[in-house]
Amino acid sequence: MNPLAILNEVFGYPRFRGNQGDIVDHVAAGGDALVLMPTGGGKSLCYQIPALMRPGCGVVVSPLIALMADQVAALSEAGVRAAVLNSTLDAAAALGVERAFAGGELDVLYVAPERLVTPRFQALLERTQIALFAIDEAHCVSQWGHDFRPEYIELAVLHERFPAVPRIALTATADELTRREIIERLSLAKARVFIESFDRPNIRYAIVEKDNAREQLLRFLRQEHPGDCGIVYCLSRKKVEETAAWLSSHGIPALPYHAGLDAGIRAQHQRRFVDGEGIVMTATIAFGMGIDKPDVRFVAHLDLPKSIEAYYQETGRAGRDGAAANAWMAYGLADVVQQRRMIDESDADEEFKRISRNKLDALVGLAETAECRRVRLLAYFGEWAEPCGNCDNCLHPPTVVDATEAARKALSAVYRTGQRFGAGHLIDILRGQSTERVRQLGHDELKTFGIGVDMSDRQWRALFRHLVASGHLTAEAEAFGALRLTASARAVLKGDLPVALREAAARASGGAKRGRATGSPAAPPGGTPAATMLDALRAWRRDTAQAHGVPAYVIFHDATLMEIASRAPEDLDALAGISGVGAKKLERYGAELLALVQTTAASYR
Ligand code: ADP
Ligand code: ZN
Repeated sequence: MNPLAILNEVFGYPRFRGNQGDIVDHVAAGGDALVLMPTGGGKSLCYQIPALMRPGCGVVVSPLIALMADQVAALSEAGVRAAVLNSTLDAAAALGVERAFAGGELDVLYVAPERLVTPRFQALLERTQIALFAIDEAHCVSQWGHDFRPEYIELAVLHERFPAVPRIALTATADELTRREIIERLSLAKARVFIESFDRPNIRYAIVEKDNAREQLLRFLRQEHPGDCGIVYCLSRKKVEETAAWLSSHGIPALPYHAGLDAGIRAQHQRRFVDGEGIVMTATIAFGMGIDKPDVRFVAHLDLPKSIEAYYQETGRAGRDGAAANAWMAYGLADVVQQRRMIDESDADEEFKRISRNKLDALVGLAETAECRRVRLLAYFGEWAEPCGNCDNCLHPPTVVDATEAARKALSAVYRTGQRFGAGHLIDILRGQSTERVRQLGHDELKTFGIGVDMSDRQWRALFRHLVASGHLTAEAEAFGALRLTASARAVLKGDLPVALREAAARASGGAKRGRATGSPAAPPGGTPAATMLDALRAWRRDTAQAHGVPAYVIFHDATLMEIASRAPEDLDALAGISGVGAKKLERYGAELLALVQTTAASYR
C-alpha cells in the first residue's frame, strides 16, 4: 500500500501534517532520518507507516515504559499487529512476544532501551527481519540534557550490526547542541534532518493580570471548559493541594499531583486523569513528563514558570490531538518577585544565576507584551511568524497608553521612602490612603502622598509590575518585595525615557472566548443539539473504553467525536470521511455509532 492509503485506511486521517509525508517516503525508501517535531506534531506516524510499508517488523526504542502499553493499545484498535517488550511483562508473556516477533507476526514492536542492548535480544534481531529502527525521545542520548539515559549511548551498535536497516531518531528538543549530540552519538551523520515548525496553531495563548487568581481560574474553567480535562500548574505542593480542594468544593472534579504524594496515590490520580474524562489535574511540574494524553483541552498556570522553554513545554501538553485548546496564565508582580528571589537565593554559581535571570526576563517580556504572543514565542525559538489571530492580544488588541507621568510619580515614591517598601505600601501613599502604617512612618507628609488618586489600585499595580518587568525597578531578595531603583530609572525620572503601558483588558475574566481556532474543531456551545450529541458520544466512548480496558482516547479522540457531533453522519460512508475513523474502527464501531447518532438526533427533533 502507498503511504497515503495507509494513513487514510488504517489511521483514518485524510492528509499528512507538515513534513510527515516526506519523512515517511524517505524512511520507507531505506534512508536514515533525524526528526525534530514539537510535542503533538505527530512523530509516531513517521515510523509506524514505514514499518507497515517495509517487509519485517519495525522496532521502536522508547524510554517511557508507561506509555508503551497505551501506544500498543491504540495501534491494535487500528488493526496494526503491535506488541511491547519491557520489564512490565512476566517471563512467559515476554517469551510469547519474542516468538511472535521472530515468527514475523508483528508489524511494530516497542522495546525498552535496556532490553534492546542485551545479547539475548541482539541475537533475536539477527534472526528476524527488521523493517526499521525508530529511536524515540532521542535527546535521551544527550549527557547535558535532563533526560539522559546511559543505555541510549549503546544504541550506536544498531548501526554497526544492522547497517542495511534504516534508522529514524525523533525528538521534540530542538536546540542546536542536543541536535549535534544526537547525530554524533547515534552515528547519524548521513541522516536527513527534518525540522518541523514549533508552532502549535491550535493552542490559544492568553496571559491575564492576576486579580484574585483562583476566582479567575474558576471563571475560566466554567466559561471555557465545562466538562473538559486539563492541567493547572502551581509552584508549591501546598498550593496544589489547596487549589485542588478549592476547585472540588466548587464542583470541578480536580485531583492533586506532586512529588510529595504517596507513589500509589500519584499513580492512581494519573490513571484517572488519563483514562477518565473531565479531570482537572492540579499539579506541580512533577506532572507532565511522559503524559501522552492527546485530549488535554487546557493548561492553566497559577504561577509563573521559570522560562519560556518551561512555559512552552508545559502549555504544549494541551491539544496534542490538534483540536482547539487553551493555554491560560494569570500573572502578577508577586510572581516576578518570587521567581527572582528563588534565583537570588539558590546555591547556583553567578553564571547560572545570570542565565536564569535572563530566561525569566524573556518570559516576563512575553507576559507584558501588547503584541502577538505567538510571534514572541516563536521568535524566541528562532522562528519568524505573522501575527496569529489566535492569542489574546490578537483577538482583543490591548490599547497602549503613555504612562510616563505616572511612572515618574511611582519611581519618585520609591525614592522618597528610601527604597525600602513593596508595591502595596507605595500604592497606599500614591493614592493618599492614610493607613496606620502610612501614618506611623510619616509617609502622609511626603510630597508624593496622594498625587496618584486619579488611578485605581489595580492600575498602579499593573504599572509597578511593568516597571519591574522592564527593569526600571528591582525587587530585593533580602527585604521581601522591597523595590529599588535601577540605573534606567533615573532616565525615566528625568523624563528622558518614555514608559508605555498596556491598558488593562476590559474583559473581567480575561479568558479567551471560544471561537475560530485555525480550522480545528472546537466544542459546540452548551445546550445546543451538537453539544447533546457530543455528551452522548463521550458517554458511549467511556463505556466502550472501559469494556476494552483502554484509555478513552484510544477509542476516538475528542477531535473525532466533535466532528461526528457536528456532522451527524447518516451512513458508513459519511462516517468514514471523518478524520480519525479508520477502516478497522469503522468496522468495529460504525454501526453502533450510526445508531447512537440517530437516536440522539431523534431525541431533540
Ligand atoms: P508526538 O509523538 O509528536 O507528540 P503523536 O505521534 O502522539 O505526537 O501525535 C499527536 C496526535 O496527533 C496523535 O493523537 C495522532 O493520532 C495525531 N495525528 C498525527 N498525525 C496526524 C495527521 N496526519 N492527521 C491527523 N491527526 C494526526
Ligand atoms: Zn497572536
